[in-house]
Amino acid sequence: MNTDFFAAWIDEIAAAVRARRDHLTQLDAAIGDADHGANLDRGFTAVREALAGASPHTPGALLVLVGSTLIRKVGGASGPLYGTAFREMGKAFGEAAEVSPAELSTALDAALSGVRRLGAAAEGDKTMVDALAPAARALAQAVRDGLKAEEALEATAAAAEQGAEATIPLQARKGRASYLGPRSIGHEDPGAASTALLFGALRAAASR
Ligand code: ADP
Ligand code: MG
Repeated sequence: MNTDFFAAWIDEIAAAVRARRDHLTQLDAAIGDADHGANLDRGFTAVREALAGASPHTPGALLVLVGSTLIRKVGGASGPLYGTAFREMGKAFGEAAEVSPAELSTALDAALSGVRRLGAAAEGDKTMVDALAPAARALAQAVRDGLKAEEALEATAAAAEQGAEATIPLQARKGRASYLGPRSIGHEDPGAASTALLFGALRAAASR
């Protein structure tokens, strides 16, 4: 997977976020402040502009730019968290021109660690970690099983989707939704839903 692949991923994310913007906002209206879709749409629009202006030459430089743009442009909890995730992935890639599924797996673990460090959410707290952590585990397993990139990313996306759906019966213990206490039960977490979108976009980039 080279720089073009990661640029394609970002294009797929921007399109998916645009298409699902209202849905993400509705999820956030139920247990938050109804800005998650707008936050991410603004963020990835800015990311595309930043990438067009800088045309980074390595996957690492590209993802670091994605992360720092999200941190700058997206308010709310999700901007710094997603920004950190992308930056940590980019840093893990270093100067490599091409990365393997195993290297992507290591980078995803770094992203998850960064999100946990910043947000202090554990699995089961009803946050993006509930989609990110199973996705990272699924990719690690796919690498151990020797799957090709496309199959590995299929398994990763499926795990993120299941993780997001599994937030529905949970009570939120982190972020704005936690203010609702038991009333947060019965709704999908918007950040977990958008994390599933990010991995769906990665699968789409792999099958291009
Ligand atoms: P805000 O809550 O500030 O309005 P967004 O609506 O953009 O920000 O993002 C909300 C999402 O951020 C939540 O659905 C949740 O997945 C995620 N989130 C919030 N707090 C945390 C945290 N401490 N750790 C991980 N994820 C979090
Ligand atoms: Mg919100």
